Amino acid sequence: MAQDKSTSDRMEKIVSLCKRRGFIMQSSEIYGGLNGCWDYGPLGAELKRNLKDFWWRRMVRERDDVVGMDGSILMNRQVWVASGHEATFSDPMVDCRNCKSRLRADQLPEKDGKRQCTVCGSLDLTEPRAFNLMFKTYVGATEDESAITYLRPETAQAIFVQFKNILEVARKKLPFGIAQIGKAFRNEINPRNFTFRSREFEQMELEYFCRPEGGLELLEYWLKERLKFYKDIGISSELLHIHKIPPEECAHYSKGTYDIEFDFPFGIQELEGVAYRTDYDLTQHQKASGKLLEYFDEETKQRFVPHVVEPSAGVDRTVLALICAAYSEEMAPDEKGKLETRIVLKFHPRMAPIKCGIFPLLKNNEKLVRQAREIVKILRPHMMVFYDESGAIGRRYRRQDEAGTPFGVTVDFDTIGENGPTNEGTVTIRERDSMKQERVPILELKSLLLDRID
Ligand code: ATP
Repeated sequence: MAQDKSTSDRMEKIVSLCKRRGFIMQSSEIYGGLNGCWDYGPLGAELKRNLKDFWWRRMVRERDDVVGMDGSILMNRQVWVASGHEATFSDPMVDCRNCKSRLRADQLPEKDGKRQCTVCGSLDLTEPRAFNLMFKTYVGATEDESAITYLRPETAQAIFVQFKNILEVARKKLPFGIAQIGKAFRNEINPRNFTFRSREFEQMELEYFCRPEGGLELLEYWLKERLKFYKDIGISSELLHIHKIPPEECAHYSKGTYDIEFDFPFGIQELEGVAYRTDYDLTQHQKASGKLLEYFDEETKQRFVPHVVEPSAGVDRTVLALICAAYSEEMAPDEKGKLETRIVLKFHPRMAPIKCGIFPLLKNNEKLVRQAREIVKILRPHMMVFYDESGAIGRRYRRQDEAGTPFGVTVDFDTIGENGPTNEGTVTIRERDSMKQERVPILELKSLLLDRID
């Protein structure tokens, strides 16, 4: 889809900020990169970790009815045969006969009723053919048919095949869920839009098992829970869209699916799918493995294969949404009062990679530096902090604005008592978005910041 200039400019600025500040970089860049693969630098790794930790906290630790697991990426090939991935996990692919590009047929614009190449505009394309998205690999030393398996294209199947083991050890009654965060791999035909469509990415998935009669209600429940989650990480509901998939477009086993979509600069696109998958997955694995994957209800003495509702979110897509939602440019006065463009990442403090910058007013004053270092020591066990003594204080604030750091603490001459006793032992805290400063005692700093970042 064609983008207008201001939206493509915005995306370009975001990509360049990500590289410049070390959020996200091309994988293997010095060798020309590897299409569809990305590395997270120091700030990106913190942001990603904060997101995954908060998901885990909300979905596992704060609930009685969900437990976690961490499955292996390589699994027995039969898992992928039974789940249907080996036969059908594919996208329709076409080749452009003119420029030789390989394209996903279902994402092409049409001209005069014919699909058009998005690279050169030609209408001379091959017929679509199915392209399996799983990365094939061999386990062990022989590269023959019996050694084939795949890098997992989703984390969910590990949950289904461990369902019985976990049910036994967790001693949970229905409804209950198993959650997992981990890498997934898909050999996408056209990786694009920065990290949005990657070949290696991470998923955060919950399989919430229930009685058949509870499925539809739980689908609505999980949609609401997930929307609450996005609000709690600072993504405003105005940037989110709920797309109810029409029944004829749902997977054949699904009795209802919602996509939660985000308004990216390159268009409204899926962040997460919330799907009621019925008993399809467990039934498939039960048939193929010959092992019973049933639940026994003590009260009614019934045995049945549970149904499941699955909220499945992408870590990388959500990180990208967090950055896009946070990116802002505004005019603000520099130290001399001259207006300049201020780039700020307005992350929710919960998500911000660095929570607090710590600055001695001058780097060549031993007392200021010692006091600032002391504050680093007090805060460091509780949050990610960043000490910076170089350059004018205004420049240091701006650097932290670009990193999305919500608070900046400055140690000045008042702090060390050189302007009299009134403000001795206090520092200023500057709040990133309003740029307002307040003076607070060093002794209260830790609890005040902890209150604001949680
Ligand atoms: P799409 O239609 O965009 O290819 P999908 O519907 O195939 O996505 P699911 O199989 O439902 O995606 O996967 C669940 C989630 O995993 C998606 O909502 C997304 O956040 C994430 N995801 C899937 N494919 C990719 C990818 N190639 N790169 C990054 N994240 C992905």
